[in-house]
Amino acid sequence: MRELKAVESSSELMESKTQVVHQEKLADQDTSKTQLDNSKKSNNIEQRGKQKKQKVLGTQKTIIALDPGHQGPGIDMSGMEENAPGSGIMKQRNNSGTTGRYSGIPEYQLNLDIALQVKAQLVQRGYEVVMSRENNDTAVSNRERAIQANESGALFCVRIHANGSEDPESYGALCLIPSQENPTAGNLYDKSFKLASDILECYCEETGFENRGVQVNDTMTGINWSQIPVVILEMGFMTNEREDTLMAEDTFQKTMADGIVQGIEKYCTEK
Ligand SMILES: [Zn+2]
Repeated sequence: MRELKAVESSSELMESKTQVVHQEKLADQDTSKTQLDNSKKSNNIEQRGKQKKQKVLGTQKTIIALDPGHQGPGIDMSGMEENAPGSGIMKQRNNSGTTGRYSGIPEYQLNLDIALQVKAQLVQRGYEVVMSRENNDTAVSNRERAIQANESGALFCVRIHANGSEDPESYGALCLIPSQENPTAGNLYDKSFKLASDILECYCEETGFENRGVQVNDTMTGINWSQIPVVILEMGFMTNEREDTLMAEDTFQKTMADGIVQGIEKYCTEK
């Protein structure tokens, strides 16, 4: 993603639990209108969540929340929101992510394409899937995505992203989860770690991508607002020629989706 800094090695990040991997840019904007919009949306999301939970009791299906990261650049997401409940730290609501340096494909499009394939496979296997967005024009912030997933009745949330770095040699897949010390999401560490490990193991086996490991990060709005196990999957580097080129291919995208689905199923069957 555009706002990402390179993670030069897994060990570096593990040593610095607060290192910012996603750096969401701050914007000097009047946020009063945004806050009004947010509260309206939150109410709607809560309503939908209640309806969804009632429906679940009847169907007994496992619900999975998928969040394809970002949205198109035509959507104004420059307003601010708290990066964690009560933190007082304001971050940009969202942005459009990075772009394939070689493919030219925007990250928001790749994230959506993979998420839709994952959704289709999970539905085929009998799961119910709730999506934060199914097009590039949905104006939903990182905080709103987390609240939406919390209220959906989902067992967990997988946030699908692709990485970017100033170093074209950076490569591999990784997952971000809350640390055990996270003030609002620390209780989700164990399950998030298992989910992230399962997804990375299956995804990297399918794609052949390097497994950079599970890394803790307590700066991400979508993690900090989560009340259900949550992972941010960074599928690969769009700034690396090999990975960007592969991730742009239709057949390889199917392989990527296969790997994610296998990881999700592994978690669901072993949890
Ligand atoms: Zn991203």
